Amino acid sequence: MSSRIILIGPPGAGKGTQAARLSEALGVPAISTGDIFRANVAGETELGRTAKRYMDAGEYVPDEVTNSMVADRLAQEDAAEGFLLDGYPRTAAQVTELDSMLEARSHSLDHVVELTADTDEVVGRLLARASLQGRSDDTEDVIRHRLDVYAEQTQPLTDLYAERGLLRRVDGLGEVEEITARILAAIGR
Ligand code: ADP
Repeated sequence: MSSRIILIGPPGAGKGTQAARLSEALGVPAISTGDIFRANVAGETELGRTAKRYMDAGEYVPDEVTNSMVADRLAQEDAAEGFLLDGYPRTAAQVTELDSMLEARSHSLDHVVELTADTDEVVGRLLARASLQGRSDDTEDVIRHRLDVYAEQTQPLTDLYAERGLLRRVDGLGEVEEITARILAAIGR
C-alpha cells in the first residue's frame, strides 16, 4: 500500500513529533521543509542564508526556493514508494507545484492529515520549546505572526483537499501515542 501523506496544521500542532513516529510505523521517510531549511542555515549554505531571513521574521520562504528544494528531495530514491510531507505545501502555489511533481511520476496523494490545536495551546507549546531549544523563530511576536500567516495562507488549503476527498482531520490535543493512534486510524492503518 502506498503512503503519500501530507501533514498540515498550525505551528506547534505537533507535526514534527508525529511525522517521526508515523515514518517509523509506515516505513516511509518524513520530509520536513523546516528541518531541511534549518540544516541549511546550520551548514551556512546559500539556501540557508536565503531561508534564514524569512524564517527569523516568521515569513514563508519564497515558493520558488521551497518548491525546487522539495522537488530535489522527492526525486531521491527513498521517497519513491511514499513519503510524509511535514510543512509542505503551505501555499496555493506549492499545492499546484506538488500536483505536477506527482503527476510527472503518475503518483497521487493518499491522505492529507490536518492536525488541529487551538491558538492558546500552540502558543504555550512553542514558548515552552523556545526555552528548551532556543529556536530563533520561537519568540512570542514571531510565533503570533507565524500563526497569522498560517491562518491566512495555509489553513485555506485544507478546504481544497477536503473537496478532493483527501482530508482527514485529527485532534492534536492529548498524549503523543494517542494522537499517533488517531492518525493511523484516520488513514486506515
Ligand atoms: P513551524 O511550522 O512550527 O513554524 P517549521 O519548522 O515547519 O515550523 O518551519 C519553520 C520555518 O521554515 C517557517 O516559518 C518558514 O519560514 C519556513 N518554511 C517551512 N516550510 C515552508 C514552506 N513549505 N514554504 C515556505 N516556507 C517554509
